[in-house]
Amino acid sequence: MGSPWAQEALRLVVLLVLGVFLGGLAGNVLLGSLIAALVFSGYQLLQMHRFAKWSASKKKVVLNQKGGWGELSYEYLKLQKKSRARKKKLGKILKRFRESTHALPDPAVLLNSRDEIEWFNKAAELMLGLNYKDRGQIVSNIIRAPKFAGLLQNNKGNASLEIRSPVDDAKSLELRLVEFKNQRLLVARDTTHIHHLMNMRQQFVANVSHELRTPLTVVLGYLEILSDDESLGKEYRERIDKMLKPATRMKTIVGDLLTLSTLDTAEPPLLDKCPEVKVSGLLNSLMIDMELLNSGRHAIKVDIQSNLMLRAVDSELYSVFSNLISNAIKYTPDGTQISVRWYEANGKAIFEVHDTGQGIEQEHLPRLTERFYRIDVGRSRDKGGTGLGLAIVKQILRRHDSELEISSEVGQGSCFSCEFPSPRVVFSTSSD
Ligand code: ADP
Repeated sequence: MGSPWAQEALRLVVLLVLGVFLGGLAGNVLLGSLIAALVFSGYQLLQMHRFAKWSASKKKVVLNQKGGWGELSYEYLKLQKKSRARKKKLGKILKRFRESTHALPDPAVLLNSRDEIEWFNKAAELMLGLNYKDRGQIVSNIIRAPKFAGLLQNNKGNASLEIRSPVDDAKSLELRLVEFKNQRLLVARDTTHIHHLMNMRQQFVANVSHELRTPLTVVLGYLEILSDDESLGKEYRERIDKMLKPATRMKTIVGDLLTLSTLDTAEPPLLDKCPEVKVSGLLNSLMIDMELLNSGRHAIKVDIQSNLMLRAVDSELYSVFSNLISNAIKYTPDGTQISVRWYEANGKAIFEVHDTGQGIEQEHLPRLTERFYRIDVGRSRDKGGTGLGLAIVKQILRRHDSELEISSEVGQGSCFSCEFPSPRVVFSTSSD
């Protein structure tokens, strides 16, 4: 007989017909049909009650009812089964996810929008020292590194940061924050072995440079003596002069390599330990050497804010300024205008060397500070360059919370500048 709901409708119709018939016999059709409707509603109420009891119980069989309510319980049970199967599947996926994240060798910590720890894997327990009590805690209260608090507040793009492992001081960790929706994933990577390799490389370069320096100094010394020896024939002295040039270059390279390896390994100078350098004095004396190098080939304009001082290591600052100015002198054609500026803007100190030379093609700009990168190797050699000058500049600036900015346009010239943050800036009150 039709659908279960048709059965329910038939039941209502039969009851109504019976009610009307009996009501007619009793002389009140309306009362008869009203009683029939009441009986039907009462029956439905009872079924509803049975259904509610059944759905609350853990029964897994279809409700033994005919008509719509039996059908409803069947559909309900089907849905329940489906949802149980889905839950089981999700549970399995979650279990597998947990197992795989726990097997991850790198620490991972899930943070909510308030930077509270929601979840972490086994590696985070081992390397970051987290335990179950740390759930719900603000992560910066657990990983106590000032730099880390900075990263949490100001996480830019792909920024990362190195810290010592809170559980093992000998280990270095690289931390990175991955943002998604309202949450963040803190991932860490053990970089101890990379540091070890870098140290080995730096040590190797430093040792080789040290080993080469002494014999080179001896060879150069003898070559210089021989080159000045009038008793030797002109032909001999010319040959000696030819040997002097590459030997001097080698000495410069060795010197630059040693400078770089010192800068690589030495801890950056602490701001409050840095002396206040009178930059105007330093630049004035540097310009005397630079004018000698220039020997009138270019017009050099110098604009120095004399009261602007900087907390820095003066020898390192000297190296940055002389590299940038000498590059402008060496790598631009005669008659170029060079302008050297030292000034304050928005509380920051800015050093700028601008030239109207031939400029540098854009493709070279990002690579200029790489070690041994030169645009024209032959030309750089002729000018006594080692390809290490801008690498040294970059390293020194990093140690002084600054970085090198390079802009250039072919045919227009180049500008090399750096900006020192306000905590390093000091204004002298004396006029000298
Ligand atoms: P180097 O020690 O050989 O001078 P640098 O690292 O100082 O090397 O510079 C790298 C390269 O950048 C140079 O070989 C030169 O080609 C280019 N360069 C640097 N400054 C300028 C400039 N002001 N104008 C044009 N080219 C420049």
